[in-house]
Amino acid sequence: MKDLSIPLDIDNLKVISQTLDTKGNIIITVESICTKTTCHKCGKDATKRYGYGSLMEYRHTSVFDTPVILRIKPVRYECEHCEPPGTTTTERYNWVAEGGKITKGLEEYLLRCVINSTIQDVAKKERISYKTVQTMLNNLIHREIDWSQYSDLETIGIDEISNRKSHQDFIAVISAKDKYSITILGVLDSRKKDDVLKFLESIPDHLKKTVKQVCTDMYDGFVNSAIEVFGKQKVVVDRYHVSKLYRGALDNVRIKEMKRLKSILPSEEYSELEGMMWILRKQYECLSKEEKRKLETLYKHSPLLKKAHSYALKLTHIFNTHHDRKSAMAKLDRWIISVEKIGLSCFNTFIKTLNKHKGSIANYFKNRSTSGFVEGLNNKIKVIKRRCYGFFKTDSLFQRLTIDLNGYRMLGL
Ligand SMILES: [Zn+2]
Repeated sequence: MKDLSIPLDIDNLKVISQTLDTKGNIIITVESICTKTTCHKCGKDATKRYGYGSLMEYRHTSVFDTPVILRIKPVRYECEHCEPPGTTTTERYNWVAEGGKITKGLEEYLLRCVINSTIQDVAKKERISYKTVQTMLNNLIHREIDWSQYSDLETIGIDEISNRKSHQDFIAVISAKDKYSITILGVLDSRKKDDVLKFLESIPDHLKKTVKQVCTDMYDGFVNSAIEVFGKQKVVVDRYHVSKLYRGALDNVRIKEMKRLKSILPSEEYSELEGMMWILRKQYECLSKEEKRKLETLYKHSPLLKKAHSYALKLTHIFNTHHDRKSAMAKLDRWIISVEKIGLSCFNTFIKTLNKHKGSIANYFKNRSTSGFVEGLNNKIKVIKRRCYGFFKTDSLFQRLTIDLNGYRMLGL
């Protein structure tokens, strides 16, 4: 920790010290540089320091997968205005999220992570309790939106979060995305069409007009409500959501085939095939020699997986190529026909969804050069990469960072 000082991105705080605790958490001891607080009794400024409250800890955004904990002793102030004197107020922080456990910075980060993911996955990855993440989401549901703070919505995103531990239950997150950031507009306690529709309709008319496109995943309730409010032309199922589905289908084949191979191959031979998940998810050009060799071995043992993988790559290739909308439609149609012709059944469910939303999926090609939330993200990664290479010169760090960016690694970025 000697050479690394972590920037905090929080105003009004001074870093006193940074250290690691026994669990490997980064502990940053901070103090407030504010000189007053609002008296809880009369509402006027209290400026006379009166000792400290008890030590508080707040989880902040992790740095390189390491939890960061802010430790602060809140200052107490005595009010000069109250009669009789002796009224004290402990300072409060505008950077602490509702619930008093985490910072607003972490809250925002968690919310971005949990989009298209599950609460459990995010809690596990961030080493934070399930309850903290759920509390955060509950706080955001039904929060009144102040539309006056927005002037241009540009791209609206409708995404889902898997909500409950035991059974599949979803909530919807509606956000405004520009090239570099996501602002959460609303969190809905359901992903039903009626609820999403109600929210989209509540956007003031002058802001509705600033919406150039609505990016959504392929869930019917999302697509249909977006079409109803913004029209067919503006609704885009972006490639991330498409790839999530067909890669999911490929994953299912992999899991089944690996199980089969485990039961028939000698354990030594099988162990050579470990780590296939990442290899199958990466872009072929990004594979190392060793990884390509592994893949060949796997192909030899499982012609079915070879076929499924090659058709998944073909789809990725279609999305990587700058087609216009019409030729993209034709390419997708041809892909469907040839998959059906060779009897590759693993993509059956995917093809059903693809056919249903082909128009919105093809809209992606129309706008890809101008919309590019993902492309914006891509640029962001490049900037981070440049910065981190200069700083740490490690490849694994870059990989971790890429993984952090909300599963967009799936695109092979
Ligand atoms: Zn007072």
